[in-house]
Amino acid sequence: MTKDKIEGLRKHMTIINEKPELSVVIPLYNEQDNVAAMSGRLIENLEALQIKYEVIFIDDGSRDATWDHVCKESSKNSHIKAIRFSRNFGHQRAIYAGLKHAEGEAVISMDGDLQHPPELIHALYKKWKDGYNIVNTVRRDKAVSGSLKRVSSKLYYKIFSLLSSVEIEEGSSDFRLIDRQVLKELLSFGESDIFLRGAIQWVGFNVATIEYDLAERHSGKTKFTFSKMMQLASSGIVSYSTLPLKIGVWIGMITGIIAFFELGYIFFVYLKGETVPGWASTLGVMSLLFGILFFVIGLMGIYIGRIHNSLQQKPTYIIKDKIN
Ligand code: UDP
Ligand code: MG
Repeated sequence: MTKDKIEGLRKHMTIINEKPELSVVIPLYNEQDNVAAMSGRLIENLEALQIKYEVIFIDDGSRDATWDHVCKESSKNSHIKAIRFSRNFGHQRAIYAGLKHAEGEAVISMDGDLQHPPELIHALYKKWKDGYNIVNTVRRDKAVSGSLKRVSSKLYYKIFSLLSSVEIEEGSSDFRLIDRQVLKELLSFGESDIFLRGAIQWVGFNVATIEYDLAERHSGKTKFTFSKMMQLASSGIVSYSTLPLKIGVWIGMITGIIAFFELGYIFFVYLKGETVPGWASTLGVMSLLFGILFFVIGLMGIYIGRIHNSLQQKPTYIIKDKIN
């Protein structure tokens, strides 16, 4: 082989081996009718950047033909990689798996239902090039989400900020760009129940925020059932605050003081030869206290459950298949 040929081959190999500059991570759960459209618009926007990129689809244990569609897309374009979970492990873990596999200098995570417009990738990329380590997005959805979802989300972030030292803007989601430095820190968390929104705020670094209009779902219905939403909400608070654990102490102290004075009053009346009437009030106070007691015990149960889970060291997710 001539020297030129070897040099040419080496050049060719470095191009092949070169790591992508940008990775896009997309969790999918029963999104068979969205994969092709999502992939099409993504590639169009990524090609326009004229950089080396990769797309990582994570099939979070779909029960429909999502995986077949993902396979079809990746056979058309070698930049499309895919991971398939053995069952549904949830949106947060799917993104986490994607982040772990991403090789880009910057990584964007976004939903696979086209609610997060791929056209925004350009703006995210540009902000990163301007020197930001994290580019968050905040949605302006006046009509797309139901009013219940908007109000509850707003309320949630208010409570979250009150309870923890981490501030999350309302309208935040997991549509964002992070650079390799932030990614490294996130992966070191090794949390089994990661709440990315909290983790990202917690790590700090230079943060920029971009506003965008939330689009309608391309096809299908939301995969976030009420129970999934509650799980995410509780996981967030439990990860970033131990304040709820102290609720019991305060309630116990206040009711204890009140009960002390009440008993003192009853005793005083008894000394005068009378009794305080009213079973109803006694029962009322008792059931109120029992209610609070069980609530607080339940709350502790949630935290203990977390400790239990992390002691067992079960894997966060299980991968069944991989492409590219
Ligand atoms: N998703 C997932 N696993 C789940 C639930 C949802 O990977 O258990 C994905 C889903 O396919 C979508 C993204 O997470 O790409 C956001 O979900 P969805 O659009 O249903 O949530 P919404 O936009 O209604 O909050
Ligand atoms: Mg959606």
